[in-house]
Amino acid sequence: MRAPIAGIKPTWRHLLAETGEFATCVELVTSRGIITERSGRRVLELARLLAQHPRVHALSITDNPGGSAMLSADTLGTDLLARGQEVIIHLSCKDWNRNALQSHAWQLASEGFDNVLALSGDFPTGGYQGRASGVFDIDSVGLLRMFSDLNAGLPLEAGGRGMERTRFFSGAVVSNFKRHERELMPQYFKLAKKIENGAAFIITQIGYDARKQDELLKYMRLRGLQVPVLANVYVLSLAAARYFHAGHIPGVVVTDELLALVEKQGAAPDQGRAFFLEFAARQCAVARGLGYRGVYLGGHLRYEDYDRLLELAESFGEGDWRAFAGELRFSQPGEFYFFEPDPGTGLSSTQINREYLRSKSPEALRAARRELPLGYRLNSLVHDRVFEPGAAGFRAGRRIYQALEGAGEGVRRALHGVEQAIKIAAFDCRDCGDCSLPEITFLCPESQCAKNQRNGPCGGTRQGKCEVGEKECIWALAYQRLKAEGKEEQMLNGPVVFKDGALQGTSAWANAFLGRDHRAEEGGVE
Ligand code: SF4
Repeated sequence: MRAPIAGIKPTWRHLLAETGEFATCVELVTSRGIITERSGRRVLELARLLAQHPRVHALSITDNPGGSAMLSADTLGTDLLARGQEVIIHLSCKDWNRNALQSHAWQLASEGFDNVLALSGDFPTGGYQGRASGVFDIDSVGLLRMFSDLNAGLPLEAGGRGMERTRFFSGAVVSNFKRHERELMPQYFKLAKKIENGAAFIITQIGYDARKQDELLKYMRLRGLQVPVLANVYVLSLAAARYFHAGHIPGVVVTDELLALVEKQGAAPDQGRAFFLEFAARQCAVARGLGYRGVYLGGHLRYEDYDRLLELAESFGEGDWRAFAGELRFSQPGEFYFFEPDPGTGLSSTQINREYLRSKSPEALRAARRELPLGYRLNSLVHDRVFEPGAAGFRAGRRIYQALEGAGEGVRRALHGVEQAIKIAAFDCRDCGDCSLPEITFLCPESQCAKNQRNGPCGGTRQGKCEVGEKECIWALAYQRLKAEGKEEQMLNGPVVFKDGALQGTSAWANAFLGRDHRAEEGGVE
């Protein structure tokens, strides 16, 4: 093993925002148990060695990955920060509500952590004495908004005086290796929403398809989304490939073809170690060639492996990445791409997918509209006439509910009972009082989304299905319904939705008409 060389590293923010240097970030997964356990000491030792590595710019520490309890990211982070290492702390919304997240954000800021990665998080899979319940009080978009507001000094708090500003440099993830249009396009829309709400850098999901990687950057250029993007390079092993192939990590795809390659290489005397490092090094070269600002390395590796991988990645000739990209083409059967392929390279062109464009033609939309469920059409009609601000029905509803404010509790309760009887039957409503039905084509996120995602889909769909259970993801369904109406591109427009817990068990109709729900912020009530 070569001795690590210490040196002063640029800050992550400076590196990404003010230099053109190709960045390397390594993901560290903390262990279970206290840090003095054998596995904890092993992670700490690896982290300290990587902190000294001149080519490793930042270490990124996960927050209960895979939905199980692990040692808190800041335990390891504090040690690394003291050594002058740039650290990215993951914060996911699965185990913390908004108060816990805010409190943790203040703790991180007070301890000197600037770099944070906002995630909705995987659905919990384990826990002490049974599986933990997911929290999902807010989502990654809400968390990014919170970081941005903390950076602005929470101007609405402390009696309008604001508070001392934090300096978070916030990152987010895009789950871009999706098979179907109805999964991929909402991920692209959500990416834009994350950037709009403060994501200053983006990390892709783990993936092994250079065309999809190329497409992401081209899509971002087309949409004017200008933030640095890091390609996620997970160093495979036989065990990891089998695990991914079985779909155990939501959003990560290892195709049959890739698994066959891994099985073959894994049968070598070194169990494929040399091959997997070379494969990952080539992925790094492809990322650099495509224009990514850096790589995000993951895998169960030793320090020597990272060192070798980085050395290999630097050893290639300038144009070698093109041939490597040709080999890195593990797409899913019938996979949707936003752009046509470039016939010369097999990568992405900038010509928008012709079939996709045809599916948006007036004739195709007319046909798609005919397929829309009757219930959806009826709900839309009622919504437009009654619940859309500005509609005559809305003004009437508002007058009625204003008048009821002065009426007895019994009348209000009876009306709420009628509302519930209708909405439970029609939508499996859970009486949250802060209704998102109109934004998700009348699909209730409380009852039909395991993570109650109100600002677009999480990254966990598999073939369009929810990562939890077998149902279609509500956002994939919403995309199809909205597309038939030519409105899908606006599906995530508008302010970030924060469900107001204070409204639970109250009348959502009253809250909508009287401007008490989240839509009031959109100008829902004049
Ligand atoms: S319904 Fe969609 S957004 Fe909700 S948890 Fe399932 S995959 Fe994620």
